[in-house]
Amino acid sequence: MGLDGSTLRAVEDEVPSACILLDARGRITNCNQAALQVLGKEGDAVIGKPLAKLLPELDLTSTNGPGMEAGKAIGPATNERWCIRPQDSASGGREVVSDGNTNDQFATMPDRQVLDADKRFEDFVELAADWFWETDADLRYNYLSAQYQKATGLSPESRLGYRRGEFRLNGPDDGEWDSHIADLKAYRPFRDFRFAYLDATGERRIALMSGRPIFDEAGTFAGYRGVGRDITEEFNTQKQLEFLAHHDSLTGLPNRVTLKDRLEHILAIARRSGTGVAVLSVDLDDFKLVNDTLGHAAGDTVLCEGARRMTSVLREMDTVARVGGDEFTIVQANSEGWESARASASRLIAHLTETIDVGGQKVHCGASIGISLYPDDGASVDELLRHADLALYKAKASGRNSFCFFVPEMNEEASKRRLLENQLNEAQHDNSLFLEYQPQVEIETGRVVGLEALVRWMRPGHGLVSPGAFIPVAERSGLILDIDRWVLRRACAQAKAWSDAGLFSGRIAINLSAVLLSRAGIVDEIRAILEATDLSPERLEIEITESVLLIHTDSVAATLSALNEMGVCLTLDDFGTGYSSLTYLRRLPVKKVKIDQSFIRNVDKDSDDAVIARAIVSLGHSLGLCIVAEGVEHRDQWKFLRDEGCDHAQGYHFARPLSTGDCENYLRQATDNALTMPSSSGVVNLAARCWHY
Ligand code: C2E
Ligand code: MG
Ligand code: MG
Repeated sequence: MGLDGSTLRAVEDEVPSACILLDARGRITNCNQAALQVLGKEGDAVIGKPLAKLLPELDLTSTNGPGMEAGKAIGPATNERWCIRPQDSASGGREVVSDGNTNDQFATMPDRQVLDADKRFEDFVELAADWFWETDADLRYNYLSAQYQKATGLSPESRLGYRRGEFRLNGPDDGEWDSHIADLKAYRPFRDFRFAYLDATGERRIALMSGRPIFDEAGTFAGYRGVGRDITEEFNTQKQLEFLAHHDSLTGLPNRVTLKDRLEHILAIARRSGTGVAVLSVDLDDFKLVNDTLGHAAGDTVLCEGARRMTSVLREMDTVARVGGDEFTIVQANSEGWESARASASRLIAHLTETIDVGGQKVHCGASIGISLYPDDGASVDELLRHADLALYKAKASGRNSFCFFVPEMNEEASKRRLLENQLNEAQHDNSLFLEYQPQVEIETGRVVGLEALVRWMRPGHGLVSPGAFIPVAERSGLILDIDRWVLRRACAQAKAWSDAGLFSGRIAINLSAVLLSRAGIVDEIRAILEATDLSPERLEIEITESVLLIHTDSVAATLSALNEMGVCLTLDDFGTGYSSLTYLRRLPVKKVKIDQSFIRNVDKDSDDAVIARAIVSLGHSLGLCIVAEGVEHRDQWKFLRDEGCDHAQGYHFARPLSTGDCENYLRQATDNALTMPSSSGVVNLAARCWHY
């Protein structure tokens, strides 16, 4: 195996001497970088130009230049290669050397520079990461550089005499052989042809090959030569990246991008074949609860198990994609309409509601599903996905573990919701939000101990909207963050003003949404508002619902502790309507519990409600909590609660939620009454006593 000196361009550029390839008429057909430097030209400007014109002092027809052996004529034969040493090189002369099939002459040259070039050439071949190869006219290897063995573990000898195609491994990572063979048959050069093969250990690997045809002096095809490179690692990394770009890394399911592509494709087929397509939007119920209470690792297990169950109950041809945290989308081609979609949805829910074992813990995680059907519910990818989502919204609203088909009215509801959101967004700037204050009294004395700030919205064109109607919308859209911040600032400032006027020394209670309380930095925000309004933290009460306790992440627990340490009073609102777990109460720094008004409504008539209210008062007291009854409308309810030892009450019996002006009058009256009443009546001057719970 000898090296042919007239080999590759890569080598040409590697050698320091100028290399120029001339045709029979002495015109330049190719040259390397060093030659361009010698010629003082750039790029392709020299191609096709006679070398004699560019270098007139160079006599190409005879031996010339110092250092050449006398009598050895090396005129420009066809495809002969010349090396020219630049003027400013060590020996100062300009030399012309032919290496085209003239290794003898090359060898007889006494010039060190040329010998160095030859040595460098060999070093280059040896050190290059690529291997060099050459075939005969029958495309059988007749040369493979040593690097081939280093890269593949296969000895060059084991390949010599064989064609490359004899070792190829068919497969998806193998290149386009048909067009490659066509190139070879037409003696065309090829670049970066991918080729799968087995290495010495039997592992499937990928090589990239480039080559160009060789012709002998008579112009007859003599074979190919080129470079090869093992790209298995980069290929796998690339494939991995491509996979990640199209799949969810946790479950391995297609992601939203792939889902849309597939749905597009499936719809194109459905349009041609007149078949149906079902799109199912699936949301795992209570996933957030699992994630927040048991941690992210448990959440990941639930998602993977959910994904596995969905895939296992569907047909292989159905696509299951993960499109968000706990949201999945299923596309069923060839759907037979709503009956089959309904059967799939029932099967999915049945499997997803079965308990999941998470490290020994049994977790229940059901699912809600929204369904849209092609062609009835939409013709485009976006329309079908949007309509399945609207149906899902409805399914979730109607309770857990249910599915719902899209109906056109949902579009109308959605646009109403969007309008409401837009107007609510405006409300913060156009002063249509305002606060009312509802007094809280001490049951025993009737003394005002606090005020609950309740937000109101005068919606343009609709009149007064209750918070029950817009707070859930604000929570879903995130607008609640700004609304609650606004309420905090406004209510704290108002409490301070009434306090300065000597009208109020109790606590101002504010309902804060779980969304805001789970934000990082909320403690600092509240501290800053208290400082800005100059209200002491002891005068602030924050009402939270059990949903906050369900997001029992470490950060929420830390927020509640920090607020408690600041002196802010934490109250659990609407107790009895949610999980009503007294265990939460023991773990968290809650000081007050408000019995939900649904238990108070019939507390004087219904024995069950009376038992519940009595139990909450007594259990709460045993935990050292202050108990408040909300929704007290009648004297009999008040009497019952007083007899049971309930501490505070709030409700129409004492006062309705009042506008700022009405509340101010109410406070003024309450203060006057307290001041004029003799202390023996049991009514205490509220301004004079400080309350601790
Ligand atoms: P909540 O915190 O439980 O507030 C008590 C609700 O009961 C208020 O309804 C109040 O007007 C009503 N109420 C008070 N006394 C009586 C009574 O004797 N009988 C009856 N039937 N109802 C009474 P409202 O103002 O409609 O507020 C509803 C809910 O909206 C509040 O329940 C609270 O959870 C939420 N909310 C109100 N303001 C805000 C706010 O600024 N931010 C947040 N995040 N939520 C708020
Ligand atoms: Mg409240
Ligand atoms: Mg309440």
